[in-house]
Amino acid sequence: MPKTVTRIEQPKMAARKRVAAYCRVSTDKDAQIESLENQMETFRYRAATRGDWDLVNIYADEGLSGTSTKGRVQFQEMIEDCKAGKIDYIITKSISRFARNTVDTLSTVRQLQSYGVYVYFEKEGIDTADSFSEMVLTIMASFAQEESRSISENVKWGIRKRFEAGQEVKVPLYGFYHTNDELFLIQEDEAAIVCEVFERFVHGEAPQVILNDMIARDVKPPAGKCWKRLQLDRMIRNEKYIGDVILQKTYIENHLNHKQIRNKGELPMFRVENAHAAIVDRHIFEQAQKIMAMRNVSNGNCSYPYGDILCCPHCGKPLIHGSLNNFYYDGQRIQNGGWGCYGKDGCGQYLLIQNILDKAIITAYNEKYNDTQETVEYYWLDDTIKEIKLDEYQITIYWRDGEKCISKMHFSNNCYSPSQYSVFYNDYLERVRSGKTKNKYKYLMGLTREKHHDNNQDPSEKRE
Ligand SMILES: [Zn+2]
Repeated sequence: MPKTVTRIEQPKMAARKRVAAYCRVSTDKDAQIESLENQMETFRYRAATRGDWDLVNIYADEGLSGTSTKGRVQFQEMIEDCKAGKIDYIITKSISRFARNTVDTLSTVRQLQSYGVYVYFEKEGIDTADSFSEMVLTIMASFAQEESRSISENVKWGIRKRFEAGQEVKVPLYGFYHTNDELFLIQEDEAAIVCEVFERFVHGEAPQVILNDMIARDVKPPAGKCWKRLQLDRMIRNEKYIGDVILQKTYIENHLNHKQIRNKGELPMFRVENAHAAIVDRHIFEQAQKIMAMRNVSNGNCSYPYGDILCCPHCGKPLIHGSLNNFYYDGQRIQNGGWGCYGKDGCGQYLLIQNILDKAIITAYNEKYNDTQETVEYYWLDDTIKEIKLDEYQITIYWRDGEKCISKMHFSNNCYSPSQYSVFYNDYLERVRSGKTKNKYKYLMGLTREKHHDNNQDPSEKRE
């Protein structure tokens, strides 16, 4: 069972500090009043034993059950004294004694910081003069609000341990640099590369293309001598580029062996938003995450750029994308594959060639937005289109602005309409099943069930 590690060293202070203490009890019971006296006595004693502290005042609010800072007379007086420059430093017992909710705590701490006044929370061991304090404070304050003691104790312990070990803070990250005082400062030249990678990826460029270009231009890699695909993938997935930090991605098994373990749900994970400066726009980052999922080709296919937006007009099941490799009809090779009703419980009666669909969408988009797009890219598809309803010869586009339009699909020569095509394809699948036609590709649409038997994994289920 993890236990709370309380930092016992005193806050670092270079010169003499004018220190104030703040105490508060929340009820007016005699025992609590006594506890207030105890708190005050503790602070007096501490100040007296510190050579560099001048205890200027002890502010104490008692017997007030009000939760807002407004009703606390002494608290307000203390803030005024800080504003007047009479105080350098405030010590207080805990976050919950200082303020009752996250908003109050953080706004007060920020206000005090603007006056050059820092706060030391004794119980949590947080010093707002410390570079990471704000981030830690965000978490701590939310715990105080939730009053979720057991979780908070676990997490606090984990955070502190990792801070102590420097695992979260000292790792160098492309695009950022750290100083002794501040972490995650933006390294402009590297940040420009990070932005470029995200922009190009979101605009539909394949990771390998971006990678090759970086190598060709001799751009400094995140680590080592040459850019690697894994580095690029990690960069695109790293939440630190939007200023967020996910805490407890890993945890220490126990404090004796210090073994670091990936958190797979054993302990809660916390995301702290805007913990530091951002390099990448949040919207672009989110689109990049969706594209990553669509480009996940572990099932032998890539559902970019439509993902899971397309459904079968016959049965309503989500269509799946197939590369249609080795499937020629009338000598015609399918360039970008197609979308068919061959997923789980699909009816197998609809197969739409992606190029035909693309054309219908591009035409409608360019007409509406007076643009000249030549390929369908997820970033504008997602930004402008809410829903696409497929049919045999036309599609209905429901735009995000509330309008809708119908765009005709054009089938020429040996390009057939979806129902016709599925007939040919079903015939082809039958030949593959019976062994009359060989196909080296494992993951044919409509043959997913066999894959299911092979290794107990249905590719349609793996799609995200
Ligand atoms: Zn269907």
